[in-house]
Amino acid sequence: MKFTYFLPSRILFGSGMLEELGKMKLPGKKALIVISAGTSMKKLGYLDRVVNLLRQNGAESVVFDKIQPNPVKTHVMEGAAIAKQNKCDFVVGLGGGSSIDSAKSIAVMAKNPGDYWDYVGGGSGKAQPVTNGALPVVAITTTAGTGTEADPWTVITKEETNEKIGFGNEDTFPALSIVDPDLMMSVPPTLTAYQGFDAFFHAAEGYIASCATPVSDLFALKSIELIARWLPTAVKDGSNKEARTNMALANTFSGIVESTSSCTSEHSLEHAMSANHPELAHGAGLIMVSTAYFEFFLGKIPAELFENMAEAMGEDIESMPPDKRPEAFITALKKMISACNLDELKMSDFGIKKEECSNLARNARETMGGLFEFDRYKLSLEETVTIFERAYR
Ligand SMILES: [Zn+2]
Repeated sequence: MKFTYFLPSRILFGSGMLEELGKMKLPGKKALIVISAGTSMKKLGYLDRVVNLLRQNGAESVVFDKIQPNPVKTHVMEGAAIAKQNKCDFVVGLGGGSSIDSAKSIAVMAKNPGDYWDYVGGGSGKAQPVTNGALPVVAITTTAGTGTEADPWTVITKEETNEKIGFGNEDTFPALSIVDPDLMMSVPPTLTAYQGFDAFFHAAEGYIASCATPVSDLFALKSIELIARWLPTAVKDGSNKEARTNMALANTFSGIVESTSSCTSEHSLEHAMSANHPELAHGAGLIMVSTAYFEFFLGKIPAELFENMAEAMGEDIESMPPDKRPEAFITALKKMISACNLDELKMSDFGIKKEECSNLARNARETMGGLFEFDRYKLSLEETVTIFERAYR
């Protein structure tokens, strides 16, 4: 058994923890605050609170408010230029995964020359080494979905080529992450469900990945258990604080899984879908391919992986004949999709055509081929197409 464990982010977790931003040692004197182009951070008063807490703590700030749900390279470059012009010495990502991921990528480009895609690996990225590090990042998450507050990863789309690629290194771990469930209470039900499933798949993929470690397994199974137990409640009653808190915890744990294990090719498949159909939410895309994806691996990877996940989700596998136990995970997954009112979710409703399956499979392998390396069973191009076709409705 061999593994390394490295997680250099200070994480503040719990109700009311945002207030700590006004008291604790900050990683700089002037922040670029990155938020989405939507109005929620302003309407809910979160932006004002963050600006005021920073000021109270002796830090100035500049706001960059253009980030889209599927964040794009243009805005990374624009945000980095604004950070440089204003001499910002740290970046605050406030919002969901798209804002925090953008903050990480902006932090890199604020300190390094050239174009963001010079550093991205995969697709048309040039995979050059990042020599100047990155500005420190503060992640303030208002959703329970990407786990980005506990991992170094950022996912950005290059619009011209529809390439949606993950990137990250030691410098893109947040220096500080604040996970305050009070900020998550107003996320609408559908988004709560999509984001919760994203966290779920980070944990489930990280659990079946070939690079899983004893550390990632602990966090993955706990995250899977918490999400199966609490996501349907958080979707049905967003004001349930216990459900929101447990989902926030599960999400942070799934981020730790991403730092200690990896997603598998399910994420590559989804990135191809939402890169070509930007209106498709990441979590929704994952749900659409998920049952076909995991079913495909039944019998191809160790049965105990599925059994342990099914058990964490509350399935009574002891009562089942041994050959039926792995399938219990698929049953539990379907039950959870149903409990979150997502049975009707299908690709055709988002304009995806069945003929696209082979293109999507090719895009997934070309742009995010790295994650296929972490599958315990190596998918061929044909098999990748098959999963898309089986998932298509
Ligand atoms: Zn994800």
